[in-house]
Amino acid sequence: MECHDALPLMHEYLDGDLEAEDSAALKRHLIACPSCNRMFKQMEQADAMVRMLPKSPVPAGLTARIMAQIPEPKRRTRWYAWVKSHPALSVASVFLLVMISSFLSLLNEDQDMVVKGANLDQVVIRGDTVIIPEGHTVQGDLMVKRGKIQVDGNVEGDLTVVDGSYNLASTAYISGHVNKVDETLEWIWYRMNEVFSAFAK
Ligand SMILES: [Zn+2]
Repeated sequence: MECHDALPLMHEYLDGDLEAEDSAALKRHLIACPSCNRMFKQMEQADAMVRMLPKSPVPAGLTARIMAQIPEPKRRTRWYAWVKSHPALSVASVFLLVMISSFLSLLNEDQDMVVKGANLDQVVIRGDTVIIPEGHTVQGDLMVKRGKIQVDGNVEGDLTVVDGSYNLASTAYISGHVNKVDETLEWIWYRMNEVFSAFAK
């Protein structure tokens, strides 16, 4: 077994849905490969921590399903490549993030619009549209989920639109990046990438 085959099996093993045959093959690899062994121990710890969190039962097999749903093959390759190129880094923290983000996304299954930012008194919300009026400035990042955003004013930070659309007027000014994310899973992936790049600095 190669290391890149071992990782998905570790997730399945921890979720308790690995077949006996695969599980034996994984164990043989973990005995033979110190780096996978170390990674597996960290994942086990993370898994135990997640299970200890109060009132947050993680459905069996969820992680494997999330990983399976991350679009193939580019993203998955990037994910594995990242894990492989950062062996010393705590895989546990990434694993925890996947678990917690997927759990939070389940909690947010309702269809209401979500607006997040540090400086929301500068925005006007009309129906499903968030408006930054001309001459108004949002200090810091702004995120709109399941809605539209009309930017006539300024954003001193990043604008992120999840499952929605945006329109920038000619008077609009955004100092950071404009990110458009179309699915909740992509959103999780996007957040994971944010964390990855923060680690990589
Ligand atoms: Zn290995």
